[in-house]
This record gives sequence, structure tokens and C-alpha cells, in this order.
Amino acid sequence: MIIAPTPQGIAEACRLLREGQVIGMPTETVYGLAADAYQDNAVARIFEIKNRPTFNPLIIHVASSDDVEKFVEVPLKAQALMEAFWPGPLTLVLKRDKNCPISLLASGGLDTLAVRCPAHPIAGRLIREYGRPLAAPSANKSTGISPTSASDVELALGNIVPLILDGGRCEIGLESTILDLSEDNPILLRPGSILMESLNAIVGPVYSLKKDHGEQISVKAPGMMHRHYAPHRPLRLNASNCREGEALLGFGDAGSLPVTLNLSEMGNLVEAAANLFQMLRQLDKDSYKSIAVMPIPMEGLGIAINDRLQRAAALEEFLDPTLHGGDHDNNSH
Ligand code: AMP
Ligand code: MG
Repeated sequence: MIIAPTPQGIAEACRLLREGQVIGMPTETVYGLAADAYQDNAVARIFEIKNRPTFNPLIIHVASSDDVEKFVEVPLKAQALMEAFWPGPLTLVLKRDKNCPISLLASGGLDTLAVRCPAHPIAGRLIREYGRPLAAPSANKSTGISPTSASDVELALGNIVPLILDGGRCEIGLESTILDLSEDNPILLRPGSILMESLNAIVGPVYSLKKDHGEQISVKAPGMMHRHYAPHRPLRLNASNCREGEALLGFGDAGSLPVTLNLSEMGNLVEAAANLFQMLRQLDKDSYKSIAVMPIPMEGLGIAINDRLQRAAALEEFLDPTLHGGDHDNNSH
């Protein structure tokens, strides 16, 4: 339902967010599908609603730059860019703070976080009133086009989200510029209405992941290395048993199997997605040789969960060889 951004409308939006629900939020770029960034389950619902086949990390929307130091490390270049362009359509990818309270799922399991302060007055009021940052991708199914009015959102998701705050037509209508400042060299991850030249003027050279004069920019490798999270231990998928020295990550009813942690005892895929990165990290820290994961059904959010597990299992050849030992049938089906 489309709701006017009156004090009552905003209060109702906050009530739903607190409950872990996902709502439509106007921003100056496009409408967002917003959830409480602290709640893993609410963030998992975003992926479920969007029907995304992968866990792309999400942009975290904050009310002002004062808030971001609780979440991320802010280098001087980021400080300068926030002063110049916030609130506005510039997203910065920064290193997560050690005690960052924001859902790991919103980071796609990475050690970095994308943050932005939207310039739309209704988004600002909502986030300030709610008191916590909101994770929000564009409010459309993963194959659809980004919505630029409340009725666009209603058309795409009206029967799924309980509330869409009406903020009129989006002024910009184009997604934010994304700049990665988590490494020394700033890297442009997505062009947008804040142009390369404007970024250059504040932080000096900015690299692009695109081919430049036919040559691949050399900083690509270090930045890219961190774009997919994988545990350091070998990962064995579709496991129906648990071998010696292995941690077993369960899903659903594990019967008599000795599961170490269970993604969702009820076999709920939203709960499993919410727990995925946190549990993998937990098992990766303990004294296990490898991690085995029970089968996850290939439906709904199970598709994105399997996608991430398969990528992590396939990455094994790049990992620490001292942790390998014995035979393990990685990727076995
Ligand atoms: P959307 O969800 O459509 O708003 O797009 C968000 C974009 O931000 C995607 O292209 C993500 O890959 C990118 N993004 C978000 N967080 C990160 C991160 N931590 N590292 C790299 N890219 C990110
Ligand atoms: Mg989008």
C-alpha cells in the first residue's frame, strides 16, 4: 500500500521495520527496498523478495556522516568525499569496523560495507526517526528495471511489501556512483551521476575496473581479491555424513548426524540465509580441518545460498595448502 510520508506514515514504516519487515522507501536515485540493516532475517527477506540468484552486497543507507564511524573505518579520502557529496548519490565501499553491528549478509559476507547518505528528505527523516541504518537495493525483482515512483514499486511488489512511502518521483532516476575506498587506490565500481572528474578533484586519481585504452588497470587484482567471501578451510557440499576433524553445517532435520551448527533446524531458507556467513565464519575460526555442508534445496533463497557455497568450494585451490590433508571430495554431488 502506498502511504503518504506524514508523521503517522513514518511511524508506521518504523513499526514495520522494527518487526523485521521490508518496505518501499524513496531516495533521490531510485526507490529502495529497505530493511533494518542490523537484522539478518530482515536482510534475508530483501534477497527473497528480489529473487536474486546471488548474495550481492547491499548499500547501507545512513542519516548522516556522523553515524558511519560506528560501522566502517573512515580514511581521510572518504571523509573528504562525504563532506563534498553527502547527502547525495555517492556510495562508498569501506572496511567494516571490527565491532560493526550491521548484518554480515548485507555485506555479502565480505569485510567491507557500502554506505550512502541519501539526499531525499523523506529517506533522511525515516532513517533518523528509525535510529538505525537501512539496507536497501532498488525496489524491483532482480530482472526488472529500477523504480522511480511509488506506483512503479506498487506495480512490481505491491502484493509483497506491506508499505511503500510516497516520496514523489525520484529526482535523479539513476543508481548512485559507487567508489571503493577500502584499499589505498580508489576504484570506481559503478558510474553514476557523480562523475569521475568530480571525484578526481577531491581525491586525485581514481581507477576504473573497465578497460582503459585497451589495457586492464593494474589495481584490479588487489581490490577484486576481496569481492567474494570464502572460508579458509576446504568446503565439502551436499554432505550426507561427517568425517573425522570436519565441522558439519546442517540444514533442516539432521537425524542422527552430528551437526556442529544448523543453518535452520526448521528447514527455513530465509533463516538459513540469515545465518549463512556468520556460521561459516564461526566454523572457520574453530579447530576444524574442513567444513561439510548438508544439502540445501535449489529453490527460493536456496539458489543464492548454493551459489555462494559453490563459489567458496571452487575457490579452495587458492587457499592455504597447510590446511589441506587427506582426501576430501570437494564439490561432490
Ligand atoms: P543495488 O543493490 O542494485 O543497489 O546495487 C548495489 C551495488 O553495490 C552492487 O553492484 C554491489 O555489488 C555493490 N556493493 C555493495 N556493497 C559492496 C561491497 N562491500 N563491495 C563491493 N561492492 C559492493
Ligand atoms: Mg538494482
